[in-house]
Amino acid sequence: MDTRLLSARSPRDLDEAAELLKRGGLVAFPTETVYGLGGLALEPLAVRAIYAAKGRPSFNPLIVHVLGEDDARPLCARWPLEAQQLAARFWPGPLTLVLPRSALVPDEVTAGGDTVAVRAPSHPAARALLQRVGAPLAGPSANRSEHISPTTAAHVLRDLNGRIDAVLDGGRCAVGIESTVIALMPRPLLLRAGAVPLAQLEELLGTVETREMRGHHTDLVAPSPGMQRRHYAPAGVVRLVDADGLAAAAAKAGQVGALLHTAPAEEIAAVLVKRLPATPAGYARELYAALRELEDADCTTILIEQIPAGADWDAIRDRLERAAAPA
Ligand code: AMP
Ligand code: MG
Repeated sequence: MDTRLLSARSPRDLDEAAELLKRGGLVAFPTETVYGLGGLALEPLAVRAIYAAKGRPSFNPLIVHVLGEDDARPLCARWPLEAQQLAARFWPGPLTLVLPRSALVPDEVTAGGDTVAVRAPSHPAARALLQRVGAPLAGPSANRSEHISPTTAAHVLRDLNGRIDAVLDGGRCAVGIESTVIALMPRPLLLRAGAVPLAQLEELLGTVETREMRGHHTDLVAPSPGMQRRHYAPAGVVRLVDADGLAAAAAKAGQVGALLHTAPAEEIAAVLVKRLPATPAGYARELYAALRELEDADCTTILIEQIPAGADWDAIRDRLERAAAPA
């Protein structure tokens, strides 16, 4: 299959992307978090094609993208006050809500579970596409399973060229890491740290439990892909190292790539050094592109300078720890 490169700035290209989707095709599209791999969420065949294109294990449920609350509610068996308030405050935006599903939602989307994940993206191209399609779109990140999420159309093509109908190029994603995922079943449970900080959710909801707090009782909710121990991962060995240990760690490894945000690069024997902004938002925006560059430079070891301990860095810490988990 030829994968077409379409432009989100062209109304004709948007029309074409929508037509491909309506016919059951797969189109990667930009969102404010990362690029999603879109397919009709209520059509089992289209959803199965998403799993096949990504090589995603069938037990990992998908996020369903909608324009807003009105389109999300029919997909959910209940829409509690918490959902209403979270949607009013954070939608459109990088927050995913997990709720009991309605009969409209096929098993393929929920991986057979009783819950559905819904989110309204804010990216204008994602919204223009949803409007034209007029139906919810399943949209996991548009990468091969377990690889680094794409933040440009070129990243998508590197992973999925020839495996999907088209990619809609909308430039670089502004947020750069995935949405925050919260389950309301009915008590709020944070499933994945992400672009919306936990503190902002707690302003509205009071204390939100995390999976660590609930321990093994997490089997209350369906398994979710962002929970896999290794995820968001480049090829090669990834290690998180304190700034003052980087030079020694580099000296012991072979083809080293380094990802820094404060440490000086001079003493580190690396084939490629990437420097990211030292703020969480700036770091998140550039993280995945930097990891892909290090991988493309054939670094067999990627040393990542340890990030600060604060809650502001939770979502990034989560991604880095998963990237560093042993294969
Ligand atoms: P990605 O495939 O990268 O878009 O990530 C999808 C995310 O969706 C995962 O991290 C999950 O937390 C979440 N998710 C999707 N569906 C569900 C569900 N039914 N229950 C819990 N989490 C879900
Ligand atoms: Mg993903």
